[in-house]
Order: sequence, then C-alpha cells, then structure tokens
Amino acid sequence: MKTKIASILFAALSFTPLLHAEEKHDHGHSHEQKEAGPNGGRIITSVDPHFEFVITGDRKIKITFLDEHNKPVAPAAQTLTATGGDRSNPTQFTFTQKGETLLSDQPLPEGQKPPIILRIKTTPDAKTVTERFTVNLADCSECNHKEYACTCAHDH
Ligand SMILES: [Zn+2]
Repeated sequence: MKTKIASILFAALSFTPLLHAEEKHDHGHSHEQKEAGPNGGRIITSVDPHFEFVITGDRKIKITFLDEHNKPVAPAAQTLTATGGDRSNPTQFTFTQKGETLLSDQPLPEGQKPPIILRIKTTPDAKTVTERFTVNLADCSECNHKEYACTCAHDH
C-alpha cells in the first residue's frame, strides 16, 4: 500500500510542470468560487456522476445525482449509506428513492454541526467511496447558502 501511495505522489508531482504551463493559457478565469447545487446543496465530486447533498426542512438527507451540467438525473445502480452525529450514539442512515432523489429514512441528529460519513457505491461491484464532513447548518454570512454548502472561496 505504501508503494502505491508513493507512486501516486510521484505521478502527481511529475504533472506539476505541465499544470503550470497550462495556467499561462488560462485567461484569468478563477476556479475559486465553488459551484452550488441546483437545490443550494453541497456538491460531492468524488464519485461519477457527482451528486448534491442537501438537508431538507425536516432534517432529512436528500441526495440528487447530477449530470455534467448539474441537472438532476435519476439514481441508477448507486447505493448509499451514511453515519452521522455523536460518535458514542451515531445515527445510521438508509435511503429510499423518491422520484429522482434518494431521501434518508432518518432525520439528522440534534445539533447545528453534526459530523457525517457517507459511503457510496456507484455499482454493486464498485469500490466504496467515503466522504466525511461536518453538516454545519449555520447560514454563511457571505453567500445565501448554509455553511455545509457554502460556495465562498474561503475555508472555515
Ligand atoms: Zn458562503
């Protein structure tokens, strides 16, 4: 495993000069602004298709898969589970398809900043992709999104 990480790092480093060369042809376009999901949620890009993560008014997790133009697409063979909240008493989430979205059967546990771990498989044979982040439900003072879906360039 160590060898594999080392070779990935080496590959990444050896691409660096190429990336710098390409930047010169980039006419000042900024990639700093993060894209918002169609429902104002957080876009998860570690799987293809990407998906949007939104907390609904009744604190359920709504997952919407997106095409390359960030338009909703119905889930295909994807499966998703999630674990969230207090580590000593976590909530296990299961999801049910509702139209083009997957909706959690359980609401998010109490609190303004519950941590969450999503586990996604794009097909039954695919490797599980894990996403961990804090569902910060406070409003961002700069954009009109919640902090967990904030599109500002700054870090929190
Ligand atoms: Zn913001």
